This record gives sequence, C-alpha cells and structure tokens, in this order.
Amino acid sequence: MLDYSFSQDQEMMRESVREFAKREISPRIPSMIKNRRIPDEIFSGLARMNLLGMTVPEKYGGIGADAVTTGIAAEEIARADPTASIPVLFLVDNAWSYLVSKYGTEELKSSLLPNVAKGKSIVGIASTEPNFGSDIGSMTTTATIKGNEIVITGEKAFISLIRDIKERSGGFVTVTKTDMSRGTGGVSLVYVPYNEGKFDINYTEEMGREGSSWGSFRINNLSVPASNMLGTLNKGFNIVHEGFEFARGLISVISAASALNSLENGMNYMKERKAFGQSIAKYQGLQFDLAGHVAKMEAAMTMAYKALWTYDQEQKYGKFTRFQVSKAIAVAKLISTTWAFDAINDALQWQGAYGYSKDCPEEWALRGIRSFQLAEGSREIMKLIIARESLGKEYIK
Ligand SMILES: Cc1cc2nc3c(=O)[nH]c(=O)nc-3n(C[C@H](O)[C@H](O)[C@H](O)COP(=O)(O)OP(=O)(O)OC[C@H]3O[C@@H](n4cnc5c(N)ncnc54)[C@H](O)[C@@H]3O)c2cc1C
Repeated sequence: MLDYSFSQDQEMMRESVREFAKREISPRIPSMIKNRRIPDEIFSGLARMNLLGMTVPEKYGGIGADAVTTGIAAEEIARADPTASIPVLFLVDNAWSYLVSKYGTEELKSSLLPNVAKGKSIVGIASTEPNFGSDIGSMTTTATIKGNEIVITGEKAFISLIRDIKERSGGFVTVTKTDMSRGTGGVSLVYVPYNEGKFDINYTEEMGREGSSWGSFRINNLSVPASNMLGTLNKGFNIVHEGFEFARGLISVISAASALNSLENGMNYMKERKAFGQSIAKYQGLQFDLAGHVAKMEAAMTMAYKALWTYDQEQKYGKFTRFQVSKAIAVAKLISTTWAFDAINDALQWQGAYGYSKDCPEEWALRGIRSFQLAEGSREIMKLIIARESLGKEYIK
C-alpha cells in the first residue's frame, strides 16, 4: 500500500509549528542577522513548543517524535528562517539526542535527556578534525578507558552550535579512536559535556547561518564517566551513521522547504515587477526556469520524506537494511541540497539588484543553504554512497 498522507496528529502539529514560526521566528530574523546569535525568545519558544529534543522518549520528558514527524517541524521552521540558523539548531539537537536516546546508557540518558527535552541542554556532533572530515577512520582524537572513566584528547573543528552549547549547557556526541591500529573498526562514540576551563575553543567565521555558531575545540586528557560511551567499544562507526542519516534526512526537508519558500518570494516579486510594459511573470523565459525549479523542489521534498520514512521503518520495524536507508537518505540529500541552491540562486536573480542586497531573504538563504552541501556529509560522499549501493561495494574503496 502506498499512502502519501500525514496523520491528523501530524497535520495538527504542522499547523501549530507553522503558526508559532510565523509569529515568533520570522519577525526576529533581521535582528538575529544583525546580532549574529539566535535570540533567547526563540530558544524559549522552541522549548515551550517541545521542538528542542522532540525525539527524546516520553520516559525522559520528551515526545518521542519519529523522523517523519521531526521532518514536518523542520519544514515549517525552515520556511520561517531563510538563514538556516534555527533549522540547524533544530536538526542537530534532534538527530543527535535521538542517538543518545537509542545508544546511551541508562545513567547518561537519565541525567542528560530530561534537560534536552526541556530545551535546557543542547546535543551537538563533534566528528570533523582539522585534518580529517569525510575520512572518519583516520581520525586522531583518542579515548582511553581507565577504570570508570574515559580520558579524551584531541581537536575537533568546524563544529556547529559550539557557542550555544558553551553558553547554555549540553555537549557533543564525539567521534573518537579507541584503537589506533584499526581504521573504522577502532572508532567509538563518547558523549562529552562542555566543561568550562577544559575546552579550548576557537570560533570560526562562516559564510552564512548568521544566528548559529561554529568553531573548533581542543581537549587534553579530559575525563568523562565510562557510562558516557554510546553503544559498544569500537562499534562507533556504524552507530554514528545512524545519527548522520537522521540529520541528512532533516537537511533534505529543510533544503527543499527553503527553496520552495524562495520560489514563492520570487514569484510574488515577478508578478509585481514590470519591465518593457508588462509584469515580468509574463515572460516565458522566467516561467520556464520557475517551472523547472518547482518541479525539482517538489520532487526533492517527496524524496526527503521518503528517506525519513525509510529511516523510521528501519528503526521501528527493521523493514529495510541499513544500506537501503543510507542510499535513500543520500539520494534525498544530494538532490535536495544541490537543486535548492540553484533554485534559490534563480529566485534571487528574478528580484534583480534587490535580490543581491542584504535586505533580500534569498541573499541570506543562498549563503545558508550552501552549508548543506558539506555539513553532515558532503555532496561527494552522498554520491559515493549511491554509487556503492548501485554498483556494489567491490567498486568502492
Ligand atoms: C556549515 C558547516 C557546519 C558543520 N558542522 C559540523 C558539526 O557540527 N560537526 C562536525 O563534526 N562537522 C561539521 N562540519 C564539517 C563537515 O561534516 C565536513 O566539512 C564534511 O564532513 C567534509 O569534511 P572536510 O571538510 O574535512 O572535507 P574532506 O573530507 O577533507 O574533503 C575535502 C573535499 O574532498 C571531497 N572528498 C573527500 N573524499 C572523497 C572521495 N573519496 N571521493 C570524492 N571526493 C571526496 C569532499 O567531498 C570535499 O569536497 C560542518 C561543516 C560545515 C560547512
């Protein structure tokens, strides 16, 4: 049976998030851009709406939302914030706290997740290092188990939400090596809470996402409880991909939503703007470009929800293999992020010189959405996954 509809509960949730986002997020975007930080009112509003940590199970105070339901909220938030800053907060926190819910020890979950569900603690991901990003098996951050503690040393780079986690509380699902003699088979995941005085942080200025924060941290012989390990020793490579896949699925929805929003803005502008005696919307050259983008972005949105649905089916019922999930997610992320960039670029073009100005939401969106061709797995890595699942593993190193 094929059914493209959302449940009544999901539709109601969409309505309330849309209404909240219109009222509480959209009007605050210009001041967020100016101040380069997410306003406190948005943090508290997201928490009040149960949108931070919405994947946290009910047992720990969350609502245990699945991937499709989380995607619906992501779509509405993306429409309200073209810079992609709040969508990034939403997607990172939800995808990575889901991983803690699934693989964390009872001790970790009961101490961390109730605060995540209240929006008091944020969960980030610290995988990338100065010298390795895509190549997770080569990473050099080490974790050594010493009795009841894990001691971690290393440097992580290009980490989203770093200032927000430092200032508000929370920590990072951190990719470490627990066996340096092995590649991906020596990777373990450890939740590392931010620790004032033990984290040496450097902020990095970025191209877009004005409200978000980004940077690197160095830690040296930092001890965390052994109960902060997610899953089993040396099995972190497979586990971390469940987090990446959730995040990539949400990015696919966010990119499509942002592009559809920009296309709507572009259309509204086209209808009003006159050149050579008539509305520019009457020129077929622009109409055909618009039609091509609408077709692509609607297809991308469908593929994004298909990817999240596939993820849910595997997580809940084991209905698909992990490789089938990886491929569905990679297809969605590849097309959605690349097509969205092109669509937003044309929506900016239709608005002429105003489109290029700092006042135009498409200028913000173009820079923000560009991040998604790299973050949580690059465009090329998405192609590698699709090629691996299409050609067979023997053709891919
Ligand atoms: C805005 C933003 C936010 C981010 N947030 C986070 C975060 O919160 N946490 C975190 O851990 N990381 C984060 N990252 C880092 C991101 O995950 C990495 O940029 C990404 O994984 C690629 O790693 P890299 O930059 O080291 O590039 P590399 O892996 O060094 O690759 C460089 C280039 O080569 C390509 N490439 C690599 N291998 C192959 C191959 N086998 N075949 C073909 N091409 C290949 C890559 O696609 C890329 O274009 C963020 C990045 C950005 C841009």
